Amino acid sequence: MLTHMPYVTFSKNVFVPVTNICRNRCGYCGFRRDIHSAEASVMTPDHVEILLEKGVSSGCTEALFTFGEPSGAEFGEMLHEIGYSSFIEYVMDLCQMAIDHGLLPHTNAGVLCYADMRKLKPLNASMGLMLETTGEVDAHRVSPGKDPCMRLKTIENAGRLKIPFTSGILVGIGETWDDRMESLLAIRRLHLRHGHIQEVIVQNFVPKPNTPMSNCRAPSLEEMQKVVAIARAILPQEIAIQVPPNLVSIRSLIACGASDLGGISPVTIDHINPEARWPSLEELHSMMGVELRERLPIYPHFVQAGWYSSSIKELVKRYSDENGFRSKYYDR
Ligand code: SF4
Repeated sequence: MLTHMPYVTFSKNVFVPVTNICRNRCGYCGFRRDIHSAEASVMTPDHVEILLEKGVSSGCTEALFTFGEPSGAEFGEMLHEIGYSSFIEYVMDLCQMAIDHGLLPHTNAGVLCYADMRKLKPLNASMGLMLETTGEVDAHRVSPGKDPCMRLKTIENAGRLKIPFTSGILVGIGETWDDRMESLLAIRRLHLRHGHIQEVIVQNFVPKPNTPMSNCRAPSLEEMQKVVAIARAILPQEIAIQVPPNLVSIRSLIACGASDLGGISPVTIDHINPEARWPSLEELHSMMGVELRERLPIYPHFVQAGWYSSSIKELVKRYSDENGFRSKYYDR
């Protein structure tokens, strides 16, 4: 199958892993740390600010905030120590800090209720939550936050709030082919209802040392090609299929219908897959064979449709061109 797009998009981001504390214990996760571990961390606003400044000075437009799914009284105490009384208040403050520094926030804060998403909406250019799978997999046996109903509800709430949204599936965590198709169909159904999905990530499982799934087989390139082709066939054309350029050979996936590479950071590593470095833009140019176009964390058609709040309007206008892509003429 040939690519559907004459170009492939990406955004330039600074990756801010706000906390690695998480109530879930996904069998493949190398990122999570137990709250009592010496490596458990919650970034202070000062630490976040240093990263944001690096991002701004490196020409990024996006602040990607990622979290585990922290909960409980002990986490509350950690937040209290850095001056916050609630998780959502902390996330809102970080988003505002990014905006004040000239970056458009994209927040991945796990399963959220409608009221919390409503608070975050005006402070985000887009938000995200991987569906991963609608199937029941052993990898999620002790991960209450991976309940597909809860995740679909969060994605639906984003649609009700008109938040440009990213979701995705994780391939190779024990799901069946039927699960893969049902997951994509579930995202499609929500998008047809609300029109808010801008991209669907098709991410390959990568075994991590010292995790329960360290000896499990990663999906082959052929399997990934097939999943990308199925995703392209199931999802409406306005939804981009995103593949991670640091985890998989992208050229053949682009030929199967992938059209986005996600956030590529000139300043921070992929904290979820720290062993996999981002290719440089020059390397991507030479390995892809199609034009590479920079976008903002909000996709061009949502820029043109005005799906953003007055809080970030000035930044969206500053960074976008007449077609909603990153303006080539904006010079910091
Ligand atoms: S929810 Fe995310 S951070 Fe938490 S254990 Fe699962 S993959 Fe890791």
